[in-house]
Amino acid sequence: MADLDVLIIGGGITGLTQTVALADAGFAVACVDPQPAEPAAAETLDGRTTALLQGSVTLLDRLGVWDHVRPAAAALRVMRIVDESGRPRDRPLTARFDSRDLGGGPFGYNVPNAALRRALLARLHTMANGQHLAGRSAEAIRFDARRSAVDLSDGTTLTAHLIVGADGKHSPTRESAGLSARRWGYGQTAMAFSIAHTRPHDNVSVEFHRSSGPFVLVPLPGNESSVVWVERDRAASRFLEMDDAAFRRAVQARTRGVVGTVSAVGRRWNYPAMSLLAERYAGHRVALVGEAAHATPPIGAQGLNLGMTDVAVLTETLVDARASGMDIGTEAVLRGYERARRTDVLARVAAIDGLNWAVMSKLPPVQVLRHLGLSVVDRVGRVKTELMRRGMAPLGARPALMAPAPGTSDGSPTES
Ligand SMILES: Cc1cc2nc3c(=O)[nH]c(=O)nc-3n(C[C@H](O)[C@H](O)[C@H](O)COP(=O)(O)OP(=O)(O)OC[C@H]3O[C@@H](n4cnc5c(N)ncnc54)[C@H](O)[C@@H]3O)c2cc1C
Repeated sequence: MADLDVLIIGGGITGLTQTVALADAGFAVACVDPQPAEPAAAETLDGRTTALLQGSVTLLDRLGVWDHVRPAAAALRVMRIVDESGRPRDRPLTARFDSRDLGGGPFGYNVPNAALRRALLARLHTMANGQHLAGRSAEAIRFDARRSAVDLSDGTTLTAHLIVGADGKHSPTRESAGLSARRWGYGQTAMAFSIAHTRPHDNVSVEFHRSSGPFVLVPLPGNESSVVWVERDRAASRFLEMDDAAFRRAVQARTRGVVGTVSAVGRRWNYPAMSLLAERYAGHRVALVGEAAHATPPIGAQGLNLGMTDVAVLTETLVDARASGMDIGTEAVLRGYERARRTDVLARVAAIDGLNWAVMSKLPPVQVLRHLGLSVVDRVGRVKTELMRRGMAPLGARPALMAPAPGTSDGSPTES
């Protein structure tokens, strides 16, 4: 294979989106992905769904991917937070956020990761300058003055001006580049699965905040929802080992009946809850995107949305550098990407980390503050609207690839 402009290591959703975005911008790119290419394999790789905020939906739309995803997606119009983490005698407090108060379309859409993977691969396969190297992994990565070189598991070596590490929390790219990362856990496990239920969800997602971790219902098409249920590790193991009937009863109890009777529960997946922050997101001939650079526990639908913003900002940085005749792999160029992402990432990782600790805390002052905070948010319209706006868009300049189309208020490509 000829010398590439960019080689992306990792074919998760972030890596595949980055590959499509750079190919769409005219770069010669390839994505090294240990997973098989067959569309049928997507379901067996990842059972999660992702609540994609409007900016991410706009990005996928601009890349010609959204139309393939939309049939599997459910609009997210209202979000309810129910705080059940107080003392047993406290009445649960509720805050309700309605996307109509922002004057536009829904907050975003909930999409099965398998549908996203299939749509991204279908788009990539139509692109002459983008390649998907399935069933292969990066074994050794070298960063030289003029090029980077990657030895693959099939014995071939590829060279590129720039390596993008989209290879997740344990990123071999980050390690090879000597970029350090701080990581910390919470002693919690996130269980993810889908449910079928008797009552319609009305496109309302519900987050029950409990001291052991959140229990979140997110709409799927029809009378189905995806569930993210976070518990302390030992309790999660017990729930994961339960037979189907007992597990369904445990789920039913935690839904508080908001979607009626839970009639079926899908395959259970589990993930450790953790945070990660790479000290640097870029170096000479290397940039990190997605969980290679930052990770959060699954609260508030931020993880992949942060990765999508990385993709948009890095793409625009490289397009600008190329237009100015610059070498896209130089530190001078890549520092621009890092600067553009740092504040947004730090703020969101810190906010989710703080929220998770606050909800878990049994300290009375923290409980009182949390209770007060939620009631103020629910009652004061201006605070609520501002929170919704900040939750939706990255801090700092919004990348053009994620910006609303002229004449729309939220960038919603398809309203339903
Ligand atoms: C239960 C749960 C629910 C979530 N819900 C949401 C949500 O609603 N909204 C949201 O925004 N985020 C959500 N997230 C977060 C989101 O899922 C992650 O941020 C996202 O999946 C990370 O994608 P990634 O591509 O960066 O990393 P990964 O998905 O980890 O992909 C990394 C890829 O790199 C590959 N790789 C590793 N080593 C090599 C190598 N040597 N060579 C080649 N490839 C390699 C791996 O095989 C993998 O495919 C959730 C997370 C969890 C756990």
